[in-house]
Amino acid sequence: MTIDLRSDTLTQPTPAMRQAMAQAEVGDDVYGEDPTVNRLQRRIAELLGKEAALFTPSGTMANQIAVGVHTSPGDELLCDANAHVYVWECGGIARLSGVTTRTIHPRSPQGGPGLLSLSEVEGLIRPDDGHYVRTRLLCLENTHNRGGGKVHPLEQVRALTAWAKRHGLATHLDGARLFNAVVATGVPAATWAEGFDTVSVCFSKGLGAPVGSALVGSSETIARAHRLRKLFGGGMRQAGILAAAALYALDHHVERLADDHAHAQILAEAVERNPHLKLESGPVETNLVWIEVDPSFATAAQVVRRLKEQGVFVSALGDQVVRACTHLNVSTEQVRQAARLIEQLG
Ligand SMILES: *Cc1c(COP(=O)(O)O)cnc(C)c1O
Repeated sequence: MTIDLRSDTLTQPTPAMRQAMAQAEVGDDVYGEDPTVNRLQRRIAELLGKEAALFTPSGTMANQIAVGVHTSPGDELLCDANAHVYVWECGGIARLSGVTTRTIHPRSPQGGPGLLSLSEVEGLIRPDDGHYVRTRLLCLENTHNRGGGKVHPLEQVRALTAWAKRHGLATHLDGARLFNAVVATGVPAATWAEGFDTVSVCFSKGLGAPVGSALVGSSETIARAHRLRKLFGGGMRQAGILAAAALYALDHHVERLADDHAHAQILAEAVERNPHLKLESGPVETNLVWIEVDPSFATAAQVVRRLKEQGVFVSALGDQVVRACTHLNVSTEQVRQAARLIEQLG
């Protein structure tokens, strides 16, 4: 029996979710005629306090569509150097939208990757002068995957979006794990989404749907996003089968993210009890545990191998960095077992 903590994308649709999928009413979504997709889009737009939403096959596509709708080729966007949209989306910013990226390197008090604050972006907008690239878009991520899975504090987010707005920048939030932030803080999704022109959310991570994300924004923005989704090959037909899984996840799998967070705390405590390991960005807040391995002890790859031999799968995401991720398909007992093995690594 393996305990797979590599990612929250590994979740399997539950029997009840599969049943909801099997029973979904469908139509051709490229024609805008899939009632289940339409229902999901209305629901997620409302949940995030925006006018409209677009269902997409992946979070990558939702983010890349957002970059495309807010920019013109040759423009510049600002984001954290560890942002998913920049690091883990195959250079799509440049390839799909012809946009250049200016990255910022926030650090946590513990020295690991941190969260962007206003003082780090002030002054970065290029002057309105024909020589310069046009700074157009600010992208944030909440929770921040590579930033220790932390919740970007609301006041910090508000300061950043207000600043962007004052300077005429568009704003996009990569909210692949926004519901983790909602459950961790009790702050509603619409409040987190408030200052942003667009927000992407993911149904296939912690929420446990097999496929799908959504991009939300104004009706006008989402109308343009529709065109880009088709351009990027994301126009799907009887997609209601997938949307039904996402609707099921919104009904049944949001509150339970608190279990994943409690499980991550069990792992974090084990890390803190092992002198060879430390929490890379400080205290764990959600379902991601980023672990720094002391180089005099082992490499990340060695730690991954050692744990794998004992049935626990985690990811090496740097020479000395390991990530463990809790999700729908790991039980408290399995997490306790994994924690024992992490604590005993020596
Ligand atoms: C997983 C993830 C995405 C999108 O991933 P897909 O696999 O393309 O759905 C976007 N942003 C963040 C922060 C993620 O963790």
